[in-house]
Amino acid sequence: MATKKLISIIVPIHNEAEGIENFLEKSLFPVAEKIKNYDHEIILVNDGSTDNSLEIIQKLAEKNSKIKILALSRNFGKEPALSAGLKYAKGDAAITIDADGQQPPELVPKFIEKWENGAEIVTGVRDHYTKHGFIQKLGSKLFYKLLNLFGSKSTVPGSTDFRLIDRVVIDEFNKLSEHNRITRGLIDWLGFKQEYIEYTYGVRTAGKPSYNLKKLFNLAIDSFVSMSTTPLVIFGYLGAFVTFCSFVLGLFCIINQYILGDPLHLYWDGSVQLAIFITFLVGLLMLSQSVTALYISHIHAETQNRPLYIVDKKNSRNLEPKK
Ligand code: UDP
Ligand code: MG
Repeated sequence: MATKKLISIIVPIHNEAEGIENFLEKSLFPVAEKIKNYDHEIILVNDGSTDNSLEIIQKLAEKNSKIKILALSRNFGKEPALSAGLKYAKGDAAITIDADGQQPPELVPKFIEKWENGAEIVTGVRDHYTKHGFIQKLGSKLFYKLLNLFGSKSTVPGSTDFRLIDRVVIDEFNKLSEHNRITRGLIDWLGFKQEYIEYTYGVRTAGKPSYNLKKLFNLAIDSFVSMSTTPLVIFGYLGAFVTFCSFVLGLFCIINQYILGDPLHLYWDGSVQLAIFITFLVGLLMLSQSVTALYISHIHAETQNRPLYIVDKKNSRNLEPKK
């Protein structure tokens, strides 16, 4: 009999002592045990918790050899924690899920079903936003709107890190070397066959969210800076527009005043002319700044060192890699 395929379940954990035991024992483990046709491993990534989360999960790991603990030396953030988990995952597919119960483990079988039917990435999309402040709600909506407007690759609004990723995608993901990373953005960038599962984003069962407004804001900025260059281009266009308008206005001023002798009686004196001239210069500055920024963004793209393309080995035919 062929060995069963393995599913890795990855849980990033940062200061979740209050609810982690409950979440794992009452929600996640029972679901994992019910995955019948597959073996599973549960990788708990302790992302430098300062409470006793680590001790709690270490105790659980003593009782259950399927639980693996990947302890990071300090708090690196959820994105690096997920990347670490994916690096150590041995499974034919990996599922990433938060430790706070906001992403319902009961849906795991559904993710697996979609995967069995051919999806290489299954993304959990939250249907609405519960227990989030107004600003965060608004921010999140705006974030996806802007990301899709600006980004080169579209991300479905409400996409979360509750995902299943096939081995081929994990291998490609592990090759990426950039540091400032947004896991979902990168996985979307990789391509492959995606499916979505809508779910209701629950209320945190215990503890406090580690992502405060400031962190979320930084995450949003990181996403934009690492995934798109459109904001830079927009400033360029704005600069060009300002330059053009003030140039026309300046020309009009000169013709009206000095050639036609101000037939419109505008009486534009020196200060108005100066204002027009300064606006013209500001436009030029914006334009040249944007060009400089684009150069930097190209350098940035080079240093990210992403592969030029990703080959979908499953669907390619008769290709032998050159020895
Ligand atoms: N988390 C982490 N490192 C951090 C912050 C959060 O590993 O620096 C984990 C956290 O323990 C949880 C998940 O990431 O399992 C989501 O965090 P949180 O609930 O704070 O964020 P939100 O639900 O607002 O996305
Ligand atoms: Mg949460």
